[in-house]
Amino acid sequence: MNIVFNKPYVNTNLANKYIADCISTGKISGDGKYTKLCEKYFESNFGVTRALITTSCTDALEMSAILLDIKPGDEVIMPSFTFVSTSNAFILRGATVVFCDSNAFNPNIDEDKIEELVTKNTKAIVVVHYAGVACNMDKIMSIANKYNIAVVEDAAQAICSKYKGKYLGTFGTFGTFSFHETKNASCGEGGMLCINDEKYVARAEIIREKGTNRAAFFRGQVDKYGWVDIGSSYLPSDITAALLYSQLVELDEIQDSRRLSWLTYYYGLAITCNKSGIKILDDNYTSHSNYHLFALVMPNENVRTAFLKYMKDYGIMCTFHFQSLHKSKYFADKYHGKELVNSDMFSNNLVRLPLYNNMSESDLCYIIDKTISFIESL
Ligand SMILES: *Cc1c(COP(=O)(O)O)cnc(C)c1O
Repeated sequence: MNIVFNKPYVNTNLANKYIADCISTGKISGDGKYTKLCEKYFESNFGVTRALITTSCTDALEMSAILLDIKPGDEVIMPSFTFVSTSNAFILRGATVVFCDSNAFNPNIDEDKIEELVTKNTKAIVVVHYAGVACNMDKIMSIANKYNIAVVEDAAQAICSKYKGKYLGTFGTFGTFSFHETKNASCGEGGMLCINDEKYVARAEIIREKGTNRAAFFRGQVDKYGWVDIGSSYLPSDITAALLYSQLVELDEIQDSRRLSWLTYYYGLAITCNKSGIKILDDNYTSHSNYHLFALVMPNENVRTAFLKYMKDYGIMCTFHFQSLHKSKYFADKYHGKELVNSDMFSNNLVRLPLYNNMSESDLCYIIDKTISFIESL
């Protein structure tokens, strides 16, 4: 038996069709037909004011930091339990990152610990919807509004997820998505910057096009284009967008398949996990997740290590996830805040089971079976 952790999904026929069509248009650089189709998809299906495709979620986060004019001395609050890009994007602008703990029940930022970290220098709160499960956006937006601080949603894992019926990525000033091959919809490497405040749109187009007003030029709004601002190359090829589009048009089917696998795990494992005090990460009545990943929280790191080995011996690849950024090699000596016990707990104890599109029922049953036999042996 050999069950990989992730298998990137591509509908080869559809992808080939769109990529061939893209090439036949004679325009394969950015901002072509498929770029616009992908952006429109986000705007019309998720209610985003303006969506701009980027080469990664990392780039969308970097663009957010530039658009918010983040500079040295500014403080940005975010969870420690996240991917490095959440933090790096703001570090690159010279900001001071202020790490906040996770909830005890899930790795999302603990909204009750944000306000004590706010100072007169706080410019942004970056929230991460871990596993596509929503953060408490009511509370977070109310703190942000009270102190006039911007909110950026790192929604890398959260395509199609909702909070109280509204799509994630549409609450903050910016929402950023990833189409890395590990995410629900992917094009290998790719991202989307969702802008929910009209006033940032024009500058975002410039920053994405190396600091030039080329987008306005192609729309005939200016008669020549040139260097007008800072920027970088954040616009992917239209071929990448064509591949992404082949997944967006099938997103309902992709989500159905993930939901089926996720629920199969859940109902297969719930009783055993409950009895032994092992937590399954899930959503609740305010958060409607996108089944991005299936994770268990083991009682301690030793049990997790033993579980990973046990599953590997049966040919099943499971993995842990983020390691607290405040304890990372890069940041540890720059960190002067409190202990972040929940962040560390998830770093040590969380484990993810394989989850990808179109998993077979027999693979799912085999994984459930082995997971139960491990837990019962504890
Ligand atoms: C995947 C991920 C990213 C990075 O996405 P890229 O598209 O690879 O840059 C950022 N933040 C979180 C929370 C992620 O899961």
